[in-house]
Amino acid sequence: MSVEQGLHTVRERIADAAIRSGREPDQIRLVGVSKGSDPELVSAAIIAGLREVGENRVQEAVAKIPAVVSVVKEKPTWHLVGHLQTNKARAALGLFDVIQSVDSVRVAHALSRLADHPLPILLEVQFARTPDRFGFDPGAVGGALDEIGALPGVRVIGLMTVAPLGLEPESTRMVFRALREERDRLQEARGLPSLELSMGMTDDYEIAIEEGATVVRIGRAIFAA
Ligand SMILES: *Cc1c(COP(=O)(O)O)cnc(C)c1O
Repeated sequence: MSVEQGLHTVRERIADAAIRSGREPDQIRLVGVSKGSDPELVSAAIIAGLREVGENRVQEAVAKIPAVVSVVKEKPTWHLVGHLQTNKARAALGLFDVIQSVDSVRVAHALSRLADHPLPILLEVQFARTPDRFGFDPGAVGGALDEIGALPGVRVIGLMTVAPLGLEPESTRMVFRALREERDRLQEARGLPSLELSMGMTDDYEIAIEEGATVVRIGRAIFAA
C-alpha cells in the first residue's frame, strides 16, 4: 500500500463514519502522524493532499520538518502530538503551528512566555495513567482551562486524548464519549466558542468520529506501507 492509497482509504472511512453518525465529512480534520516516517514519505503524503501533519517528538521534527518543507509547494500545518518538555518549548515554537499535547500548567506557562503570537493549543486529558502518557485528569481539566485560558501567547482551541491501549471497542467508545461530555460541560459552563475534540488513531478513529471527534490523528493507516 502506498501513502496515496492509505490516505485515500482513510479519507473514505472518515467520510463513511461521519455520514453514519449524521455529520458532514468536512467537520472532521485529518492530521497525518508521521513519527518514524522518512521525510520522503511525508512529502509524498503532502503532495497527495495531506494538509496537516503531526509529529510526537521535537527532536525528530527538528531535522524532518525543514527537509519536508524544502520539497513541498504548500506548507502543511504542523502539529505536535507528543509530550513536550519545558526546556524544548522554544524549539517547539519554532517548528509547530499547533501544540495538541499541552499536559501541564507548567508547560503552558513556558509556551506563553516564549510565544510571540497567539499559539493554538489543546489540553491533553488522560483517562488512565500510563508511564508513557501525560495529561490532565478529567476532573482537573476545567481548572487548567481557566488558568491557561488567562495566559497571553496561547489560545486553548480544544481537548485531546489518547485512548488507553488494549481496551475493548466499547470501552474505547466510553473514553471518547467522556471527553466529549467534558468538552460540552466546559463549553456550556464558561460560554466558550466550540472547542475541538482531538481523538481517534488508526485503531479507533471511526469510533471517535461517531462520538464527536473534530480532529483525528492517524499514523499507521497512512504511513505504514
Ligand atoms: C503515534 C500517535 C498517533 C497515531 O497513531 P497510529 O496508531 O499510528 O494511527 C496519534 N496520536 C499520538 C499522540 C501519537 O503518538
